This record gives sequence, C-alpha cells and structure tokens, in this order.
Amino acid sequence: MKTIALIAHDGKKAEMVAFVKDHLEYLKKAKLLATGTTGSYIQQTGLDVELKLSGPKGGDAQIAALAAEGKVDGIIFFRDPLGKHPHEPDIQMLMRICDLWNVPLATNPATGTLIIEGLLDN
Ligand code: PGA
Repeated sequence: MKTIALIAHDGKKAEMVAFVKDHLEYLKKAKLLATGTTGSYIQQTGLDVELKLSGPKGGDAQIAALAAEGKVDGIIFFRDPLGKHPHEPDIQMLMRICDLWNVPLATNPATGTLIIEGLLDN
C-alpha cells in the first residue's frame, strides 16, 4: 500500500479538502498521513488519516523525517504563496528532503492529481 502525506497551509485548506473530495476513490487505496490541522479537516471527508503534529509545531518535520526513511511514497503540500509562516525553515527542509531522496512532491492541485494517478491508479 502506498503512503501519501497531505499538508495545506491555512489559506489552502479549503482547496485541499476540495482536492481530497475530488480524488476520494483513489485516496481510499492509500495510507494517508497529514499535519494535524489539515488532517482533521480531511477526516471530515470520512477518510482514515494518521495525524502528525500541526505544521508550525513540527508536523512538516515529522513528515520530512519519514520521507528520509523511505516511508512516504508521495507528498501533496499546498503551500500558500501569499502567506508568511513561522515554520518556514521546516518547509524548506521538507522540500530539500524530497529532492534529496527523490520523493514525489506536489505543491498544487495539478501536480497533486498527477501524483495520485501515478501512484494509485491500479
Ligand atoms: P497544519 O500544518 O495542517 O497543522 O495547519 C500545515 C502547515 O502549516 O505546514
């Protein structure tokens, strides 16, 4: 089973919930991880999601650590390009880890769809 991590900044949480609803049948086939607040929204769609800490409290760092250990197959991270974030170093670290370990990382719905279809279309 593939493991997908989902993260959305506050300005992108509604977009993430809409994205998850659009891909519900695919996502049911995956093990899902999410940062705390994003995950609690996703749970409202009925999906089973393992919640990590909230992003500003270290959730992005937890997901990055799992990616470095080879335990995450893809990350969908809707960043808010208009927002400022106290945990910017963790965000940069997560993206660096994805590049270091060649973990698929989507930062918008278009690439998110490609990751989901690529990993879960079977
Ligand atoms: P959150 O974290 O889902 O707990 O809001 C996301 C983030 O800001 O990285």
